[in-house]
Amino acid sequence: MQAYGWSSHWEAQFRQVATSGQPGRVMAEHRDRFVVRTAVGEQWARVAGRLRHGAQSRVDLPAVGDWVVVQGDPDGTASIAALLPRRSVFVRRAAGDEAVEQVVGANIDVVWIVTALGRDVNPRRVERYLALAWESGARPVVVLTKADLSPDPSTDLQRLHEVAVGIPVHLASAMRGDGLDELKRYLTPEVTVALLGSSGVGKSTLVNALAGEEVLATASVRTDGKGRHTTTSRQLVPLPGGGVLLDTPGMRELGLWEAGQGVSQTFADVEALSVNCRFRDCRHRGEPGCAVTAAVENGTLDASRLDAYHKLRAELAYLASKVDPALSREREHQARVEHRRYRKILKRKRMDG
Ligand code: GDP
Ligand code: ZN
Repeated sequence: MQAYGWSSHWEAQFRQVATSGQPGRVMAEHRDRFVVRTAVGEQWARVAGRLRHGAQSRVDLPAVGDWVVVQGDPDGTASIAALLPRRSVFVRRAAGDEAVEQVVGANIDVVWIVTALGRDVNPRRVERYLALAWESGARPVVVLTKADLSPDPSTDLQRLHEVAVGIPVHLASAMRGDGLDELKRYLTPEVTVALLGSSGVGKSTLVNALAGEEVLATASVRTDGKGRHTTTSRQLVPLPGGGVLLDTPGMRELGLWEAGQGVSQTFADVEALSVNCRFRDCRHRGEPGCAVTAAVENGTLDASRLDAYHKLRAELAYLASKVDPALSREREHQARVEHRRYRKILKRKRMDG
């Protein structure tokens, strides 16, 4: 179990939470069943009724990376009775129109935001990943892969440095082996590192290169066209020198989910500037004395970065109104009240006039 990140921390958590059963870590999820690794090996387990009924949302249910209490049931099957308190949880908005959350992984210490050299490099997408990574409680890092594709990666590196405020950007090539030693430094015992990024950027290849063997199927052997998740392959990969890699399915769109704190950390540069805005509630949309728009005008802040900041904030506000309909009804009511008052004022003005 040590190989999967078990430590005295989890031991203590287990003692507090469990009255019976044994500890295990969720390796993979398949519909309503989970592959759980315990001291005696891997087994399938379902969520116990009590845990399911007590869950307020999907976030309260097991996810890959969770440490759980596994119970053997009288009929010979196993069930997950409880989750040990998480150290972090990476949540995104699930694809689709409905505002529902999806847990990408739990108990992640470090997130590698993986992007491939060339066309894949997209500062706006990296900002999204960063916001969710910060919000999760993990420490984000940016990894630029396929370094072998260009003799001069400096332009791509520069674009990433501009959005990776205060965090490292690593250049790597799984193909040639560049940068792997640097990445291996993150992989120390008890640490879980999750790889996030679009499909095809080279996450599986990187995992295999770091593990020193073919533990994950890469694109070239995934012939079903749907990726590696048709078979229930394990998402957690223990490394020979310690540390665990958590592989995630490639994500086409990364919707934000309650990430106010994460957006603030991602845009620490913008928020630092805003301290000098004249108005405390400045929205940085051209108000007088706005230090943020001034920075755009004098060229110290990229206009597209400020635009991205506004967009992510707006997305969060919209999400909040969808998730909390009571709140949005209240806002609509307020808007109607305002509107009526405004019309009254107009009417009076007209009569006065
Ligand atoms: P994933 O979907 O992110 O897991 O991506 P894969 O690991 O399956 O890789 C996608 C494609 O990129 C495969 O064809 C790999 O051979 C290729 N690839 C992965 N790493 C590198 C690299 O460092 N350099 C180059 N040139 N190609 C790579
Ligand atoms: Zn301002």
